[in-house]
Amino acid sequence: MQIVERPTSQGVREYEMLIGGEWVGSLSGKTLDSTNPFTGKAWATVQEAAAEDVDRAVKAARYAFDEGPWGKMTGTERARLLRKFAELLGENAEELAYVESTDNGKLLREMGAQMKGLPEWYYYFAGAADKVQGATIPSDKPNFFVYTRKEPIGVVGAITPWNSPLLLLSFKLAPALAAGCTFVVKPAEHTSASTLEFAKLFEEAGFPPGVFNVVTGYGGDAGAALTAHPGVDKVAFTGSTETGKLVMKSAADHLAKVTLELGGKSPNIVFDDADLEAASNGVVSGIFAATGQTCIAGSRLLVHRKAHDEVVERLSERAATIKLGDPLQTETEMGPSAFREQMDKVLNYIDIAKGEGAEVVSGGGRPAGDEVKDGFFVEPTIITGVDNEMRVAREEIFGPVLSVIPVESEEEIVRIANDTQYGLAAGVWTKDIQRAHRVAHALRAGTVWVNSYRTLSFNTPFGGYKTSGLGRENGLEAVEEYCETKAVWVELSGNTRDPFTLG
Ligand code: NDP
Repeated sequence: MQIVERPTSQGVREYEMLIGGEWVGSLSGKTLDSTNPFTGKAWATVQEAAAEDVDRAVKAARYAFDEGPWGKMTGTERARLLRKFAELLGENAEELAYVESTDNGKLLREMGAQMKGLPEWYYYFAGAADKVQGATIPSDKPNFFVYTRKEPIGVVGAITPWNSPLLLLSFKLAPALAAGCTFVVKPAEHTSASTLEFAKLFEEAGFPPGVFNVVTGYGGDAGAALTAHPGVDKVAFTGSTETGKLVMKSAADHLAKVTLELGGKSPNIVFDDADLEAASNGVVSGIFAATGQTCIAGSRLLVHRKAHDEVVERLSERAATIKLGDPLQTETEMGPSAFREQMDKVLNYIDIAKGEGAEVVSGGGRPAGDEVKDGFFVEPTIITGVDNEMRVAREEIFGPVLSVIPVESEEEIVRIANDTQYGLAAGVWTKDIQRAHRVAHALRAGTVWVNSYRTLSFNTPFGGYKTSGLGRENGLEAVEEYCETKAVWVELSGNTRDPFTLG
């Protein structure tokens, strides 16, 4: 995709919500502003939904599931719509990337690549839609023919975060549609615009009304109303571990199923036998790409003592030359934090690290310069002398802050890597193939990259161990997350039997 640079400000856009195939305002008439984190100014307004708007959306999704044409479609027909939608996404990738970048401050070059890859999610799951199949069970009772059916769970309520709104939505929506579910999404308050643009394409693809609905607003209001709604059969959430716990408790009240993709404090492990140039590049990609605002950020560098000084030197040199600036310019390498509170949170963690006795060897504050003065920027920051007990090693910062922990033996490395409440991802850098596999198997994380970092695909399961989440997104098993299994028992003999025993 060729990315066309545009002026940062094109006037304030106004958005409504898509509910039951209609574009509507919130019932209260309230709206909220979405701020461009590079300019610090409002660039869009979205509707502020409350519980009654969410109720409308869930009812529309329920109607579409129970009564509308969607519920009667075959997998082959659903696949056709998914493929049409994928085509439209491809044609509109540039515009969607522009909207995401303007809304959350991530680089146009990052969002451009994401949007270019997004159609693959819908092509892949279109391929799965007519293969959502059960099994025949060789029954232990000779007079029975037993089989299972995979049926859609029903109405899905999804809550998405601000860091990669459409990618993380697609992790949920594509398999849910393949399974035959209907969907209501509440995007993050700071970044709802791309989901609303995406919804326009959904309509254009010809999906029946109510299959996909968007409600916008605050997490504590619209988000909480969605997870608590008894009409929601399954809640799919990406965000912080703290909010994930609230979401799970709320879903438990009406026994909705959940998948949760939560936080991380992922170790990027560099052994002394690694290609240190490649490893240093991988560490940079793990923590400074996307301004560190990714759940898979490699925020703890566990580096062997023998390689420590060389790696820190390489990283510091690269960090000092990272080009901060306008996310819409193609030469920019790091954009701002997505919103002011996020920037303040990151800066506060740097102070905490200093207070705990660690040393900031690169960055550590807000950058100087005219181009970045209005944006919510934090310098790429490297902190050495970190102990795994310090808060910067234990808590998710979600910013461009790398904590460097010197380590020695393989055993110590695995122990420290696993000594965290999280278990989302990890990187291992070594030329020793036996060690690479040994360590990959010993790490308690849902994804392990060997001599690489930050790679994902629609066809590979993604999710967390421990407090990093529940369930898996992507890959064929993601469709299962949106299915119920029904067992059907067919009596073959026509005889009657003792009614007072379990057959
Ligand atoms: P949250 O987890 O609070 O937000 C994620 C989503 O949940 C948003 O859509 C939010 O809406 C919504 N939400 C908030 N409260 C509720 C609720 N009670 N019920 C239902 N939905 C709710 O993350 P934040 O945006 O507040 O970010 C805080 C921190 O979380 C970050 O600094 C980072 O550490 C972590 N985070 C991790 C992510 C990941 O991918 N693992 C993604 C985002 C954040 P609203 O935007 O209106 O609050």
